[in-house]
Amino acid sequence: MLKPNMHYAELKDSYLFYNISQKTKAYLEKHPGAKLYRLGIGDVSLPLCGAVIQALHEAVDDQSKKETFHGYMPECGAPFLRETIADYYRARGVKLLPDEVFVSSGASDELGDILDLFDKSNAAMVIEPAYPAYVDANIMAGRNIVHLASGRENGFLPEPDESLQAEILYICSPNNPTGAVFDKEKLKKWVDFANKTGAVIIFDAAYEAYIEDETLPHSIFEIEGARTCAIEICSLSKTAGFTGTRLGYTVIPLELERCGMHLNAMWVRNRTTKTNGVSYILQKGGSAVFTPEGQRQIKENIAVYKQNARFLMETLDSLGVWYCGGKNAPYIWMKCPNDMSGWEFFDLLLSEIQVVGTPGEGFGDCGKGYFRFSTFGSPEDTKEAAARLAQLLRGL
Ligand code: PLP
Repeated sequence: MLKPNMHYAELKDSYLFYNISQKTKAYLEKHPGAKLYRLGIGDVSLPLCGAVIQALHEAVDDQSKKETFHGYMPECGAPFLRETIADYYRARGVKLLPDEVFVSSGASDELGDILDLFDKSNAAMVIEPAYPAYVDANIMAGRNIVHLASGRENGFLPEPDESLQAEILYICSPNNPTGAVFDKEKLKKWVDFANKTGAVIIFDAAYEAYIEDETLPHSIFEIEGARTCAIEICSLSKTAGFTGTRLGYTVIPLELERCGMHLNAMWVRNRTTKTNGVSYILQKGGSAVFTPEGQRQIKENIAVYKQNARFLMETLDSLGVWYCGGKNAPYIWMKCPNDMSGWEFFDLLLSEIQVVGTPGEGFGDCGKGYFRFSTFGSPEDTKEAAARLAQLLRGL
């Protein structure tokens, strides 16, 4: 009889979004027609920008003519997009070869697939609270997880120490859910640690476009030494509204090597075996993001989400509530008032002011007592939610 991958039985059920939807559904059944202010979603609300739409249309037309039709695309990405992305990094002082950039169908796919490069015996370190995919993808693969708790005392940006025993190190900066961002000095400590121990950092840069403070690194490759110890996974989902369209990229430097195996060459072999490339149409649409006009337009959209963040931050600042994130990330991570748990605060917000957010417990045990607001909603709703939040918290 076939033996399934029994590691799936070790996965913890994630009740987070299920519970949120059950609770909001129950509230709406009791209060038909009530308006909810949804600040829980991690999905964008603004459409693709005009430059992308135009490029997508043109690419569809290309597919209609014999002379411009494209069949299978190169598995690792179209040269035009790999070069464009390498130029995007170059503008920030990071030199990459196009061959070091792999076009993907998004960060989630890559975060799971990239694990093919590593032996099962490696342990994976996950800084918690964390985006749940890191833990689950490694459990499915049968790996041990080292949970590294972070907290308010270190600004949710822990440092490595000698006792840490893991070969795969996940770092997400700007972070989901905390919005915390590693500065160059703190990130260098992780790079030095990985180079010293032979570990590899999987750097999730899905929110790099939200960094405002230009002293903060958008890419781990801004840090000296990263080319020998890091893989960077990036996405156009939150940068340019590609959550439903799907496009991302992964950077694997040519120097990255362990036990005589070059990870870039291994990934080429993996992609050529397991994929037939990302569609021409999407890659054309994605390349428009990196044109000057595309950059101007996506920044306009990001500015809307940043204004949402300001509505919430001003409220929390005026009340003296502790939070991190918001300035360089699309998430705000606040301490719940009066030692409430995240779920207690969730219930309070829903019943009293009809605001829906995400309890910190959903991102790991050390998220208990915290709450995440996403800034991807509409400005009108976010402004109203912030006003309601201010009134509620003042009265507690
Ligand atoms: N990484 C982080 C930290 C995320 O928050 C998300 C999505 O919310 C992803 C990766 C997945 O991005 P994509 O839409 O490219 O799969």
